Amino acid sequence: MSKRRLFGTFGVRRVANEVLSPEFASLLAASYGSLVGGRIAVGGDTRTSTHMIKHAIIAGLLSSGCEVVDLGILPTPTVQYAVRNYYDGGIIITASHNPPKYNGIKFVDEFGIGIDRNMDLAVEELYFNKNPKRVSWDNIKLLYQEDKIIDEYINEVIKRVDVNAIKKAKLKVVVDCGSGAGCFTAPYLFEKLGCEIITLNAQADGHFPGRNPEPIEANLQDLIKMVKELGADVGIAHDGDADRTIFIDEKGNFIPGDKTFALVEKQMLKDNNGGLIVTTVATSTAIYDIANEYNGKVITTAVGDLLVARKLHEEGGLFGGEENGGLIFPDFVYGRDAALSASKVLEVIVKEKKSLSKLIEELPKYYNEKMKIECLDDIKEDVLKKISKEVLTLGFKVDTTDGVKIFKEEGWVIIRPSGTEPIFRCFAESKSEETAKEMVKWGISLIEKYKGEY
Ligand code: MG
Repeated sequence: MSKRRLFGTFGVRRVANEVLSPEFASLLAASYGSLVGGRIAVGGDTRTSTHMIKHAIIAGLLSSGCEVVDLGILPTPTVQYAVRNYYDGGIIITASHNPPKYNGIKFVDEFGIGIDRNMDLAVEELYFNKNPKRVSWDNIKLLYQEDKIIDEYINEVIKRVDVNAIKKAKLKVVVDCGSGAGCFTAPYLFEKLGCEIITLNAQADGHFPGRNPEPIEANLQDLIKMVKELGADVGIAHDGDADRTIFIDEKGNFIPGDKTFALVEKQMLKDNNGGLIVTTVATSTAIYDIANEYNGKVITTAVGDLLVARKLHEEGGLFGGEENGGLIFPDFVYGRDAALSASKVLEVIVKEKKSLSKLIEELPKYYNEKMKIECLDDIKEDVLKKISKEVLTLGFKVDTTDGVKIFKEEGWVIIRPSGTEPIFRCFAESKSEETAKEMVKWGISLIEKYKGEY
């Protein structure tokens, strides 16, 4: 398989105005436009560089003969929703949870799903050969503005939950928009759901003055404090482009993404009398336990939200997700969706009449440990081969969908080379915290052993 030169697992992410300049964006967009044609929607997050890159992208698309609809500043899933329902393709300008100096370009197909590897390669080829289609002056199409899509998106989220039950409960919600694209959706959504809302970082600002856009526990200390001090039912945080939601329970505990995934999976399976769940090989066994209990079936893909989304589309799946809190509701958006994830969790709290901490406590208990270790890109493949050989010799069952996942009696370990950085990631899971820690160290020791040979 030929290697992608620009694209990572989902689009291109670079430092804005260094590699990711207007010239770069325009040529890349023209390359995509040459292959897709038709009406293309464009939107992006709150980064300082988004307008600059967006206008370059619009110019590139128009030059290749596309008609362009500018959706403005809005969450990634809102663009995906719009494309699926109204357009032939879409381009999203976002660097998701990365620091402010980055930005990125994500390309989606007519279903709003990230384009596949072959399409990545085709776009790259036109880009590197500098020969996208350029139409004659009289074939240049129009540019439209569309600013109603956010309202429609919010209303569609609300249709998918029991709004009256949620309204009646009058939940007290602290929402941390992180100055990202969620500023334009989250407060309005929770208001429509009848919540008492307290907002944090709800002013859109590409410098992300309040907190880093990545919703990890260390970055959510203000939110945790507010939830505790105000006696809120739940704290909700989004990443920069509002495709992921992270929850804080009423006691101020940070809820890891895989717990939220399990919680919503349980509700989706209960409500639908079972169904097909799609996730990645790096996700908790809890997902399987719940599927077994509630008439679900689980299939896995390599790590990457667009791979999960595509599989859901191909198989007609019910629900999917990843261990980082990216939940996918395929009847709505073929990608991670923060707004529906947040609304679904509120619905579970209300329907089950339990606090979030109680609901989490009732889920199957596993401990996860994550580590990473540096490793030069050109030796990764060999190192991985040698690790696979060793663990097979040791008699372990393995899954090589993505890196190598090793099943041991006490749990599992997965060793994966990162697609974007010169590192290996190692996750381990077990019923005991101690064992999970030992297992992740064992995984790292395998990588060290073989990378030491070079
Ligand atoms: Mg994101």
